[in-house]
Amino acid sequence: MKQPDRETIRKQLISLREDILEEIRRKNAEAAGLGDEGVGDMEDLGLIDNLGEFLHLLSDRKREEIILIDEALERLQEGTYGQCQECGNLIEDERLEVRPFARFCTACKARQEKEDHLKEGVAKGKL
Ligand SMILES: [Zn+2]
Repeated sequence: MKQPDRETIRKQLISLREDILEEIRRKNAEAAGLGDEGVGDMEDLGLIDNLGEFLHLLSDRKREEIILIDEALERLQEGTYGQCQECGNLIEDERLEVRPFARFCTACKARQEKEDHLKEGVAKGKL
């Protein structure tokens, strides 16, 4: 594995964090703008309800990403960046390129997703 350049990764994480914050701000502004136009009839009302829900879900996911980025920055500081939080192996370069704030290697992530899927099935009474 190539030696990661800490400063490059740090800048990448920080700019990613800013992009996400900017996106949340923009979406919120769009939602506020829609509200200002006033609601004509029930159809419009339904649309705005759904949009609000969509924005809520979006910003939840984005907020989660920001938390992950903050954690990655901490690990960078501690010198544990790039290590899987589950098995301790190094996370694949290709994975870090796509998700520089990834916490787990591909194998652990895949296993977790499978387990989550199973738990979901149990919760829904399918298993
Ligand atoms: Zn792992």
